[in-house]
Amino acid sequence: MFDWMIVGAGFAGSVLAERIASQRNESVLVMDTRDHIGGNAHDYKDEAGILVHRYGPHIFHTNAASVVDYLSQFTGWRPYEHRVLANVDGMLLPIPINLDTVNRLYGLDLDSAGMEAFLATRREAIDNIQTSEDVVVSTVGRDLYEKFFQGYTRKQWGLDPSQLSRIVTARIPTRTNRDDRYFTDTFQKMPSDGYTAMFANILDHPNIRLELGQKWNPARDRPRARRLIFTGPIDEYFDHRFGALPYRSLRFAHETLDVEWAQPVATINYPQTEEYTRITEYKHLTGQTHPKTSLTYEYPTNEGDPYYPIPRPENQALYKQYRTVAEGLSDVWFVGRLGAYQYLNMDQVIGQALATFARINSDRAPTAMV
Ligand code: FAD
Ligand code: UDP
Repeated sequence: MFDWMIVGAGFAGSVLAERIASQRNESVLVMDTRDHIGGNAHDYKDEAGILVHRYGPHIFHTNAASVVDYLSQFTGWRPYEHRVLANVDGMLLPIPINLDTVNRLYGLDLDSAGMEAFLATRREAIDNIQTSEDVVVSTVGRDLYEKFFQGYTRKQWGLDPSQLSRIVTARIPTRTNRDDRYFTDTFQKMPSDGYTAMFANILDHPNIRLELGQKWNPARDRPRARRLIFTGPIDEYFDHRFGALPYRSLRFAHETLDVEWAQPVATINYPQTEEYTRITEYKHLTGQTHPKTSLTYEYPTNEGDPYYPIPRPENQALYKQYRTVAEGLSDVWFVGRLGAYQYLNMDQVIGQALATFARINSDRAPTAMV
């Protein structure tokens, strides 16, 4: 009998396991259906010996000092600022859209004020910004929207931006300066030995036992612990009793090329052509020196692991039904991207896990979910 059972060895499950084991001195059984730790952030050395991310590129960035302080107990850091180019009209242009994007795309020579004036003539006035189309069209106008966002989003989500909540494309800013970084967070660094090494340190505690390659089976596993933290899909926990929550999946195609470098930046997005959305070359992220190079192509699909909760009002309404039942359970906590059905970055999941631990520690019931 363990004090705690945690389903999922990703960020949500691993951070909570560590906090409970080290701060409460209680026993924790962490179970994952996959044969490895790290959840979607898992990385490994491929056949060529190049460190790659099994589930697509994971770039760590945050403004939360508490999250950095927490993780720094388990890893050193390598500075890295992510840059992405979009293959549009046969050119490789900076995304997020910035001054260089507009000047090169339209053959102009604007300065920042000129770009602001240019966008002012193109953006559409929308009173109530609701959808992912509204966000972009009201900022940069329809031509840039169609070239950079509409095709990519349709591919990535299988939905038009007009069918998705605004939070999806609102992740991507527009800049009238020449800053070509994908993120502007105060902290942008990668774990110096990779994510899996960091997870191994997080989970390295005598109170933690790992069972990998094992899907959680409620009848068998629930009696093994007093309390449960579930970081898998919340609708799966409840046997989809209100209907299945929609998720978008990806198929990852990994390849190694016999050249030192394949791309000028880590990621190239393909909003207009190809079946994949983007190609990522890992050595840019990791700083590894190697005569070959490894890449991942991301092909969106509805089949496979649930990678992305799909932000739409009707899905949120369905999730609320599950959450309401979850709030009635006194000894089960739902955490993480799948447990809370939220499109969260890694730092947000860590923040959520730390906040959940604070709630557990204050001995409040799990009902007030984070
Ligand atoms: P997960 O990592 O999904 O972990 C949940 C674990 O639970 C999984 O390992 C799963 O196997 C296990 N599990 C589920 N159900 C069961 C069950 N029934 N029994 C046993 N085990 C189960 N975030 C960033 O900050 N920066 C990025 O650059 C970034 N890039 C991303 C790129 C892609 C392609 C994807 C999909 C996500 C990206 N993210 C990024 C988001 C990041 O992956 C998540 O925020 C984070 O990994 C979520 O952690 P988690 O613990 O909630 O979930
Ligand atoms: N997006 C787009 N074109 C791009 C980059 C992003 O249309 O070149 C949209 C798309 O809908 C995508 C969303 O913005 O799903 C968020 O992009 P992000 O790169 O944050 O996606 P993630 O890394 O989470 O897959």
